[in-house]
Amino acid sequence: MTVESFHPPVRTLMGPGPSDVNPRVLEAMGRPTIGHLDPVFVGMMDEMKDLLRYAFQTDYELTMPVSAPGSAGMETCFVNLVEPGDKVVVCQNGVFGGRMKENVERSGGTAIMVEDEWGSAVDLNKVEDALKANPAAQILAFVHAETSTGAISDARALAELAHKYECLVIADTVTSLGGSPLKVSEWGLDAVYSGTQKCLSCTPGLSPVTFSERAVAAVRNRKTPVQSWFMDLNLVLGYWGGSGKRVYHHTAPINALYGLHEALVILHDEGIEQAWERHRVNHLALRAGIEAMGLSFVVDEASRLPQLNAVSIPQGVDDATVRSRLLNEYDLEIGAGLGPMAGKIWRIGLMGYASNRRNVLLCLGALDAVLSDMGAPIHSGVAVGAAMKAYQ
Ligand SMILES: *Cc1c(COP(=O)(O)O)cnc(C)c1O
Repeated sequence: MTVESFHPPVRTLMGPGPSDVNPRVLEAMGRPTIGHLDPVFVGMMDEMKDLLRYAFQTDYELTMPVSAPGSAGMETCFVNLVEPGDKVVVCQNGVFGGRMKENVERSGGTAIMVEDEWGSAVDLNKVEDALKANPAAQILAFVHAETSTGAISDARALAELAHKYECLVIADTVTSLGGSPLKVSEWGLDAVYSGTQKCLSCTPGLSPVTFSERAVAAVRNRKTPVQSWFMDLNLVLGYWGGSGKRVYHHTAPINALYGLHEALVILHDEGIEQAWERHRVNHLALRAGIEAMGLSFVVDEASRLPQLNAVSIPQGVDDATVRSRLLNEYDLEIGAGLGPMAGKIWRIGLMGYASNRRNVLLCLGALDAVLSDMGAPIHSGVAVGAAMKAYQ
């Protein structure tokens, strides 16, 4: 057998994640591996916690990256906070709320579901009704930015409601962190997880989390041990916690953490508010082009995520053909719809490093060219100009 090194093509990643990785991050990941208890590495970990606090806009002591992808951050929140018999109010308006339900049930809890239509924000009135009807519920869980539909929910108002009914808040911020306003401490979110491959422009595989003191107290006061050894925060904190001696828990993904550190330095240099604004401006330009073509957005203007644009596929156009032509002819990846939205929508990501003018113009130009060539019912040749005008 002859084998060769793997050389992936260079693509532009404008789907639901992973998004384009900043070359500075890839360069940082190639630096020499050192020991995970090396004092130099431990110093980097401490700085990383501060950088994560800045990104999350939090002052919570327990802030760190879980050594596994966003789904593991989700599981870390649920397995630590949910005990057998607990009731959790779970909001579902897309794919990821469904996974929260799974997590509650696998932790031995009961999920009280608050369902909203896919593409809509979580309805605050329905949440209040559920909290009122279930005084025993101890946790409210929701997805801030639903990547499957492109809708954002009002995390601040949801947290206010939860606290009014004496519930802790678990919030999925995988797609919002770095792309949409998120103020963890000010809003009082208690257990928050995110991912590295969306608006942080880092490689996939790490999940930043942050826990309020109330959430940490709840973990410490559990009646039963956390069923997952790897995710038990009581153990993980021996390695990541405090500033004292570090105890071996698992070997940290050293080079992946160099990458995250670099991604967070880049975000810090740009400024978190500037990053939110950049995502907004590029979204408005993409939107101008999409609408000039005659295509429409799935989500109402008020709940639209700037970093994840769900666009309805025009009648008679084959979803898979368009996406494979974009990939093969333009090295451009956009996302397909999930679940009930499969074949009906495209998901165009403008996340992190990928949220820039060049990508907006490339995507509009390529989509225009492919759809025009296929004879799709669109206004041809006007999308790029409309976006350029939006930038002026
Ligand atoms: C991507 C995503 C996840 C899962 O993250 P992975 O890194 O793929 O495990 C969870 N929630 C939301 C909202 C996401 O967009």
